[in-house]
Amino acid sequence: MSENKQEFKKNNILIVEDEETILELLKTGLCYEGFNVICATDGLTCLENLSKSSVDLIVLDIMLPDIDGFELLKKIRKSGIDIPILMLTAKKDIEDRVKGLNLGADDYVTKPFSFKELLARINALLRRSLKKKNKKDILRAQDIELNPNTREVFKAGKKIKLTPTEFSLLELFMRNPKRVFTRENLLNRIWGYKYVGDTNIVDVHVSHLRNKLGDKPPKFIRTHYSIGYAFYPNGENSVE
Ligand code: CA
Repeated sequence: MSENKQEFKKNNILIVEDEETILELLKTGLCYEGFNVICATDGLTCLENLSKSSVDLIVLDIMLPDIDGFELLKKIRKSGIDIPILMLTAKKDIEDRVKGLNLGADDYVTKPFSFKELLARINALLRRSLKKKNKKDILRAQDIELNPNTREVFKAGKKIKLTPTEFSLLELFMRNPKRVFTRENLLNRIWGYKYVGDTNIVDVHVSHLRNKLGDKPPKFIRTHYSIGYAFYPNGENSVE
C-alpha cells in the first residue's frame, strides 16, 4: 500500500485521454491507490465533467479528438479553475512542455511514462494544492491564526492548545468580526442545545480562551456589559 492511500484517499482525479490502453492503465492504477477516477476521452466531456463534479486534479493528454489539450488547458484556466493539471505528452519536444507550463499546467510527464513516477507527481501536486487551500482558509486577526482544516491556533507563531469548545468559540468569533453575541447566542451556537441553567459557562470558557490567547486586558474578545461578547480582529484600536 503506498502512502497516498491514506493521504489523498477519495480525491477526485479527472483523466482526459483518448487512448484506451493508457486510459485503462491510469484508471486501474489510480483507483487502486484509493482515488476516485472520472474519465473523459475528449475535451467536451472533460469540460462537462468539470462543470458537474468536484475535481481535485486533472491528468490531461495533449492529442485529443476534438479540442487539442493546449486549447483545453487555456479554456480551463480562463474559466477560473485553479486545480492542479498534469499534462501527458507523447512528444519529447521541449517546446510542448514549455507551452503547457506557460498555459497554466503545473507539471507534465512524457509518454511512455512509469506509473510510479506519475503517481509521485500527482501526490506532490495534491500536497502543494492542499497547502495552498489551507493557507487560503486560515483566519487571521493580527498575530492570531486559526486554521479550520487542521484545527490549529497560533499566537505570534506559537501554537496554542485549545479545547474543542474554546476552538469553536474562537472560530465563531473570528468568522463574525465585531458581531455582538449574547451568552444565549453563544450557548446555542457552540453547545448546540438550549442550555438550562447558568450562562456562566460561557464566561468561564471565554475567560480560558482569553488566558490562552494572552488577551489581557481584553483587546480581541471584548465584553459588552449586560449583553455578551464581540471579537475585534484589529485589537482595541478597532473599537469605535
Ligand atoms: Ca491522445
